[in-house]
Amino acid sequence: MNRLAGKVALVTGAGRGIGAAIARAFAAEGAAVVLAELDGATAVATAREIANACEGAQTLAVQTDVTQPASVRAAVEEAQRAFGPVDVLVNNAGINVFADPLTMTDDDWRRCFAVDLDGVWNGCRAVLPGMVERRAGSIINIASTHAFQIIPGCFPYPVAKHGVIGLTRALGIEYAPKNVRVNAIAPGYIETQLTHDWWNAQPDPEAARKATLELPPMKRIGRPEEVAMTAVFLASDEAPFINASCITIDGGRTALHHE
Ligand code: NDP
Repeated sequence: MNRLAGKVALVTGAGRGIGAAIARAFAAEGAAVVLAELDGATAVATAREIANACEGAQTLAVQTDVTQPASVRAAVEEAQRAFGPVDVLVNNAGINVFADPLTMTDDDWRRCFAVDLDGVWNGCRAVLPGMVERRAGSIINIASTHAFQIIPGCFPYPVAKHGVIGLTRALGIEYAPKNVRVNAIAPGYIETQLTHDWWNAQPDPEAARKATLELPPMKRIGRPEEVAMTAVFLASDEAPFINASCITIDGGRTALHHE
């Protein structure tokens, strides 16, 4: 407990799923948490739920669209007004855009990059000046195992997620001399609404769900809380020399050549 005491954290897409689990875990470890979420109502509900569950938790819900630099800047300013400068940023907001490259629309391409890559850069750009000035900060970008491996028919999501790793490494190197750490987490399948939506979009959702559970060597998929534990570690002072890195959370799936 209290591994993040005194820190101010901003988590994008924190209304549900992995982002909500990270916000919950950060609050439980003593951070003041800003939930920067597209859906203002979900943000408020999740912030309230955390405050009720966790005595003394400091939470703030801010409607935020990560595709809009001004919206992200405004969320960072609100965080600062409420709790002080942002020490930890988690760029978690993301969407699945899965298409065939040649039949994909221009809008699909732009939507994917606007959220999954521009959104991450917009977050970094909003907090970096303050972190550089204070010579302290931890940025955690939620990538995906799609950042290393390709599943046919999932274009262009993996292209954007490869970009997230590139951005993480580039900014990690640029700002290392200023004591700002930039790292990524690459989850494999994690059970959230995103995963349920994908199963439900398949011709046989139950068969798709069963097939997904068979993929990791541990024969299950991950839980949002399992990603949150790693985010706490990277956000804390327990990881002072981890920078420009990526931690994969997939039960070993990407290390498996084949059964
Ligand atoms: P969810 O869809 O459950 O949650 C994503 C959250 O991000 C939603 O609350 C959504 O809000 C919000 N969001 C979407 N667009 C924006 C935006 N423009 N600005 C602010 N918030 C936005 O997804 P997960 O929790 O599963 O995924 C979180 C991250 O983890 C994503 O980056 C995803 O790519 C990554 N990931 C997930 C995996 C999985 O298996 N679940 C695996 C690998 C990576 P709203 O509901 O209003 O749209």
